[in-house]
Amino acid sequence: MNKRVLITGGAGFLGSHLCDRYHSEGWDVICMDNLITGAKSNIAHLIGGERFSFIKHDVTNYIDVDGSLDLILHFASPASPIDYLEMPIQTLKVGSLGTHKTLGLARAKNAKFLLASTSEVYGDPMEHPQKESYWGNVNPTGLRGVYDEAKRFAEAMTMAYHRYHGIDTRIVRIFNTYGTRMRLKDGRALPTFFRQALTNEPITVFGDGSQTRSFTYVDDLIEGIFRLVESDENEPVNLGNPEEISILEFAQEIIKITGSKSDISFEELPADDPQVRQPDISRAKSILNWEPRTNRKEGLIKTMDYFKDQVLKNG
Ligand code: NAD
Ligand code: UDP
Repeated sequence: MNKRVLITGGAGFLGSHLCDRYHSEGWDVICMDNLITGAKSNIAHLIGGERFSFIKHDVTNYIDVDGSLDLILHFASPASPIDYLEMPIQTLKVGSLGTHKTLGLARAKNAKFLLASTSEVYGDPMEHPQKESYWGNVNPTGLRGVYDEAKRFAEAMTMAYHRYHGIDTRIVRIFNTYGTRMRLKDGRALPTFFRQALTNEPITVFGDGSQTRSFTYVDDLIEGIFRLVESDENEPVNLGNPEEISILEFAQEIIKITGSKSDISFEELPADDPQVRQPDISRAKSILNWEPRTNRKEGLIKTMDYFKDQVLKNG
């Protein structure tokens, strides 16, 4: 019998890439999503095929899945700042109630469980680069708190199910990841900069652009997640590309790669915007023998055609 995986948030950016990966590895894939930020078009090529099913469901409510499950990958959650600022309560609910429901399902099915956590658990970090041992600097009542605290709660809940109920759990702390199937207007820096550059509009850099991020190409992340599931590591593991860049330099890089005529327009810096972010990936290297293979320039070039196409369709 094939192994069966349930992927929550499976119609989103990362979830749909995971559906592809597990499907191509020969697993039966059940994708569960309420489509609040995801789209069926991301999984259209899998729908109706063998070993794939889609269930439209909000995972903050009781989850009913027939048959056995070997693995649950819990990726459901709004993930871009614009999305979670527009949906603060849903974001808190999916990180808390949704994580509780999916862990309960893992317990009932005796399935392995992986939580998609985030570098946001480190908040505006006082330690740089960020190691898994760092506890973070999060403003619980700030605007971003709805996402950061939901994920911190989700990590605590996952460890409690591991320690108290003996569930075989994984926690991946994902750093800014990009690639095909990102929404052109999800508000994150990378799709926004591509859209603006490809239409020669001003690139909106928030603050003076000195804040840094470290961008990971989606295929590298998916490989890391696959290896983490196969490992026996229950403690959190950072997955990200340590190549760090300031947002201003990043805007200039996108202008160059796209051959754009865009200027840069400096806009107000959002509250609690982390000043720096860079993963320390020593644990992933030693435990998973994993490190990113795609440098930023290669990854951006690979992703550019997708954004060109999106601009033509929805620009
Ligand atoms: P996304 O918005 O494309 O995907 C999230 C998916 O979850 C969407 O399809 C959405 O419809 C679904 N969803 C949201 N609430 C739901 C609910 N209550 N019930 C069922 N489905 C629900 O975002 P993404 O970038 O693919 O992020 C996926 C996961 O990875 C999130 O948990 C996010 O926190 C985490 N993550 C992503 C990044 C990144 O750089 N992309 C970084 C850190 C963490
Ligand atoms: N950012 C920006 N212009 C935009 C969108 C984002 O300068 O149009 C900045 C944002 O303030 C942050 C960085 O780019 O410092 C990365 O933002 P993103 O929303 O992609 O992710 P996150 O803040 O969650 O890392």
